[in-house]
Amino acid sequence: MNIIFLGAPGAGKGTQSEIVSEKFAIPTISTGNIIRAALKNETAMGLKARSYIEAGDLVPDDVVIGIIQERLAEDDCKNGFILDGFPRTIPQAEALDAMGIRIDKVIDIEVPDEKIAQRLSGRRVCRNCGNSYHIEYKKPASEGICDACGGDLVQRADDAPETVLERLSVYHEKTEPLKAYYEKKNRLFTVQGQERVEDTTALTLKLLEE
Ligand code: ADP
Ligand code: ZN
Repeated sequence: MNIIFLGAPGAGKGTQSEIVSEKFAIPTISTGNIIRAALKNETAMGLKARSYIEAGDLVPDDVVIGIIQERLAEDDCKNGFILDGFPRTIPQAEALDAMGIRIDKVIDIEVPDEKIAQRLSGRRVCRNCGNSYHIEYKKPASEGICDACGGDLVQRADDAPETVLERLSVYHEKTEPLKAYYEKKNRLFTVQGQERVEDTTALTLKLLEE
């Protein structure tokens, strides 16, 4: 199955993607994680992306479309994949269509704007592997340490309050129109984001198993 997770920053796309990934044994492709890894390794792409990410803006379409095209051509995507954080604009969705990629379900996780700020301010990510946690809603087994790899948990620079507002406004302007785009293709399924991760997961799995 080929799945897209849609939703505001901090709506829980990444968390749901990881869970579904494991359950269906298909890879999650997170453009955010790929770009952050490039930033850390100071590749040409990372250097190009830096100023956009830091300002809370989207990285240019041609850069992310290139990343996705390369990644989807890899062997492990043959039996399905999950896209987390792509597409984020109409041109990106059109590029997927132009590549002849068939999408089965687009799961839109809805979380009100008021909740987003609170979620992002409590988010912590592993400096080493990029896994994501929350100080209230998704605590690691031991505080400040990644369950998966033992790395330090830190706050992402773009989770700072000023940047969060910009990211939310970019989301409404550029990404939200994708709901209508996929609705028209009868691919859109909506999940109301719940307080507890496992409750959101139950709703997600129900939609995917239908
Ligand atoms: P979140 O977890 O908050 O949804 P991501 O980790 O997916 O955010 O992305 C972080 C940043 O990386 C975005 O704010 C944007 O600058 C860049 N980015 C990620 N995916 C895309 C995309 N598909 N198009 C443009 N920029 C992207
Ligand atoms: Zn880790």
